Amino acid sequence: MSDKTVAVFLGDDASPEVMAPTVALLETLALPISFVYPPVATNPDSAPGNNFSESAKRMVDQADATFFGSTSGASTQALFYLRWGKQTFANVRPCKWRPGYQSPLRQPESIDFTIVRENLEDLYLGLEGDLEDLAALNLYSKHARANLKDLGPGRYAIKAITDAGSERVIRFAFELARSRGQKRKVTLTSKYNMLAKADGHFRDIGFEVAKDYPDITFETFIVDDFLCRMITQPQALDVVVTPNLYGDILSDGSAGLMGGLGLAPSGCYGDSYAYFESAHGTAPDIQGQNIINPTATILSAAMLMTYLGYSEAAQRLEAAIDRVYATGQSLPVDQGGNTSTSEFFERMGDLLI
Ligand code: ATP
Repeated sequence: MSDKTVAVFLGDDASPEVMAPTVALLETLALPISFVYPPVATNPDSAPGNNFSESAKRMVDQADATFFGSTSGASTQALFYLRWGKQTFANVRPCKWRPGYQSPLRQPESIDFTIVRENLEDLYLGLEGDLEDLAALNLYSKHARANLKDLGPGRYAIKAITDAGSERVIRFAFELARSRGQKRKVTLTSKYNMLAKADGHFRDIGFEVAKDYPDITFETFIVDDFLCRMITQPQALDVVVTPNLYGDILSDGSAGLMGGLGLAPSGCYGDSYAYFESAHGTAPDIQGQNIINPTATILSAAMLMTYLGYSEAAQRLEAAIDRVYATGQSLPVDQGGNTSTSEFFERMGDLLI
């Protein structure tokens, strides 16, 4: 009898090459978890917007969490449901350097921070259109000293920073800083000088929430300044909270600090659901070559185990990853080794026995 159910989407392109063996690895841990596979339309183009069936949705709803392989199309509707349908507002992207990771930095030791990216709003609401549709609003740009309609034809995208959406993700970041118990610091970053209304609002809410956490240091940096600090002094960071778009970009940068996208796990949390997916995409350029690095996916699985209450399993997975890199044997191709994806999984299996 299983205590927990996990819905699994194997994903597209090179994703299944790391997803399927990671589930197999989890199965060797002999935990009371059953893995179910919601059906995914094989040809999403044939039914645009409708390739996520009711039965697949039910399987996601009935599961305790979802383990999601990156998609280039087939499970996009499922992903949208996991985000907006399940209100998974906090995308947590840890950046922890482990000995053996091929960081480009001279001194990557002790890098251990986590980016909390707002996951549901900002520019990612898909509210885009033609500038001429806004002409009737008579919008005036103080910066350009011109009316919007006089700028000529073009497109717009709306950046929405809501009170509730900002507060919950910032509060999540403070709680995370407390539970990590490390530097007990939250760094908020946005472009609050140029976008005083929208990004400034995100920062103002940060200051409000910070009042409830006197035990946590709170600091803010404009995102360009922050990026320079993230590269030059990454060890100074603990928990970083940021609107969606900056978080998307900065977290790929933080993966680069560790040694590449193949190392970057991720989890998206809501109040009553979570899904886990590597920070990288489907890596189509290396599909079928048996060289995709499984580390990000295995560490995302460790985050899933922690979420389900199996922290010991999570620690075992992390310890096995630590061991592979610390010994410098069985390194994947993107980390300067010549170990194939399947050989990496064999080694993980040996270490988990
Ligand atoms: P998305 O837009 O979904 O983030 P993308 O197409 O921008 O995806 P990725 O799929 O993340 O980007 O790939 C970017 C580059 O990183 C590619 O060259 C890819 O091969 C490489 N890459 C990504 N993940 C891995 C991995 N796990 N192991 C090795 N290389 C990887």
